[in-house]
Amino acid sequence: MFADVIVDINNVEVDKIFEYSFTDCRIRLGSRVVVPFGKKVLEGIVIGVKENSVYPAEKIKPILRLLEETPALTVETIEMMKFVCKTCYVTRASALRLFLPSEMRKGKVKEQFIRVVKLASDIDVEQVVSQLKKTAVKQKQVLNFLKENGESKFSSLSELFGASAVNAVVEKGYARLEKQKYFRSPYKDLEFSEKKVELTEKQKNAVLSVENTDKTTSLLFGVTGSGKTEVYLDLIKKTIAKGKTAIMLVPEIALTPQMLKQLRARFGDDAAILHSGLSAGERFDEWWRLRNGEARIAIGARSAIFAPLEKVGLIIIDEEHDGSYTSESAPRYSTVSVAQFRAKLSGAKLILGSATPSIESYKKAMDGEYNLIELPDRINKRPLPEVEIADMRLEVRRGNNSVFSSILKSELENCLNKGNQAIIFLNQRGYSKTVICTECGHVQKCEACDVSLTYHREDDALLCHYCGAKYKMIKACTECGSPFIRYGGTGTERVVEELKKLYPQARILRMDRDTTQSKEGHFKILNQFSAKEADILVGTQMIAKGHDFPNVTLVGILDADMSLHFSDFRSGERTFQLLTQVAGRSGRADQPGKVVLQTYSPDNSVLRQAINYDYVGFYNQEISIRKATAFPPFTDVVRILISSEDDDFALSATKAIHGQLNELYLENREKFKFFGCMKAPLKRLQNKFRYQVLMRIDADDEELLETIFIICDKYKSRTIFVSMEVNSNNLT
Ligand code: ADP
Ligand code: ZN
Ligand code: ZN
Repeated sequence: MFADVIVDINNVEVDKIFEYSFTDCRIRLGSRVVVPFGKKVLEGIVIGVKENSVYPAEKIKPILRLLEETPALTVETIEMMKFVCKTCYVTRASALRLFLPSEMRKGKVKEQFIRVVKLASDIDVEQVVSQLKKTAVKQKQVLNFLKENGESKFSSLSELFGASAVNAVVEKGYARLEKQKYFRSPYKDLEFSEKKVELTEKQKNAVLSVENTDKTTSLLFGVTGSGKTEVYLDLIKKTIAKGKTAIMLVPEIALTPQMLKQLRARFGDDAAILHSGLSAGERFDEWWRLRNGEARIAIGARSAIFAPLEKVGLIIIDEEHDGSYTSESAPRYSTVSVAQFRAKLSGAKLILGSATPSIESYKKAMDGEYNLIELPDRINKRPLPEVEIADMRLEVRRGNNSVFSSILKSELENCLNKGNQAIIFLNQRGYSKTVICTECGHVQKCEACDVSLTYHREDDALLCHYCGAKYKMIKACTECGSPFIRYGGTGTERVVEELKKLYPQARILRMDRDTTQSKEGHFKILNQFSAKEADILVGTQMIAKGHDFPNVTLVGILDADMSLHFSDFRSGERTFQLLTQVAGRSGRADQPGKVVLQTYSPDNSVLRQAINYDYVGFYNQEISIRKATAFPPFTDVVRILISSEDDDFALSATKAIHGQLNELYLENREKFKFFGCMKAPLKRLQNKFRYQVLMRIDADDEELLETIFIICDKYKSRTIFVSMEVNSNNLT
């Protein structure tokens, strides 16, 4: 027999399918195998099996061995892998890696087994105990323990009675030792209690609508707190009851424990979690539980769309508009597209849920491509929180230079006095965004990147948020030697410091990338806050989404304008989404909520629409702007990013690519709405100089895209990096 094998080596030059022969009949489609490759021995995966080969027999090498009996990939995941290769322009090997837990490759982690001790089936413990020597006290205890407690772990028995007693009992044939597979299970101490809810009429109708539509994709457009999660859970229950499996995606790792809690409460061990915050062993075991069918519900961040499930009947993408669903490093896949492909492949239903759907998705719903379901009210008609605008220009004029407006201060006092909780949102971690010399105006910059450094007071260090480099905090300006340094722009660390000064009694938690590095770090902070062990939670966008804290009655948004100033066609959309999401954390239970939004541009139309919860108004304005200016979804924004450590190399490659693309452009002018070549906004990153060719072309013109990609592919080399992005969320 012959097998088509993708070899796990990420190299453009060997991005081919290789043929090997085999006789081991356990080798099947999707099996992981070890193969000879040149002088090396590498892992690979079988993506095709056939009886005959076109190559002469002496040219074909045999597969060396099979790695595990259960094929790692299925017919369905192999198809998905081909889809990713084709649409994301990545090597087969790098597409393949999306489908396997990284720890599985090269056997870094193995299955874990434990030894358990079981009583022999034909013995009468009382009789045996009476026959044992008087001195064999421990052995008698082992036997009695096993009789009372049933099979037990060898390790725990040994701890109690000593290993020699346990071994003696086994040697005498009174008990047996068995090897059992052991699952390392994440979030073991997750507490949950099932909250029984009766779905409202609206929620029931939403469920019915998903079940009855003949469209693959449904857009569940429901305001924050409208009970979307209950709709998801009900749909999952029905899917499982039909013998199918389900995938549930959430945008942030921080949100997975919360969702897992609800899934475990209802479905127990049927839910498995896949995300990068788990230990290698846990990830490996959860993956296998899904693969073996021991768990039928996969939950996780975007990569869980590649979960090794069969018979998928339902895919849910919660907060579908979220930027995290588009991968920013290769393979740059769009989770929604992959999900759509997977849903069609296995006849599943796809639910996109959001209070602020992406412009693309809402348009598709308007055009009838998606089934639109609306939940316009909060559960029990609880009102959406009232939003008050704090005009920071006025505050400054009145001499208030603090981070907090006077309105926010008085609302905070109010909230704390009542014993309620508050959330303060600021999308900037660290202490200050920049450090500036007051004498010469010099801003400290990263040596490897063209960006300013952020001061982190806890580490007393300057950090580059782009490459992660860490520098000692300066005592004096590195340009002119002046000791007078000013902090520019506030970060979360500083907000906490100011809050401590204002409210010394208040207990404050901070949640951002720096405080959530440890294992289950997110989970610990959220648990503390949820257990009312803190009064104020300060955080970045991590705290903006999804969380349901019933005691939060105040949300302060410190710099509502921050994301408006990115020169990116999505900045308005992103601001609207972020503000609506953050505001939605307030007043979710019995007490009404309040939001204070601080801004320097209180008349901005997007801010106005956000505070009035006017999604449709926002959509109508935004879609007409996109149409008039020829931006997505009316076009595709394509960026070719060229970078190299050598500025001249980068520049000449850019000129060459631009030259060749220019010919294409001249031949197809009607398909291009924009074509230009320039330095990237971030001119240098991690010591690489960066240039870009930027294009806007007719939407969904796959042929043109492919031609562009083929042209650019030729310029990739060891020293010149060329990447291609379509409708990227991050055009720095
Ligand atoms: P969303 O996901 O739309 O923001 P959630 O699903 O988190 O909203 O629901 C908001 C709150 O309302 C939660 O505390 C949830 O337990 C509660 N809830 C949802 N559906 C019902 C229902 N049918 N009856 C009572 N409470 C509900
Ligand atoms: Zn200076
Ligand atoms: Zn840097």
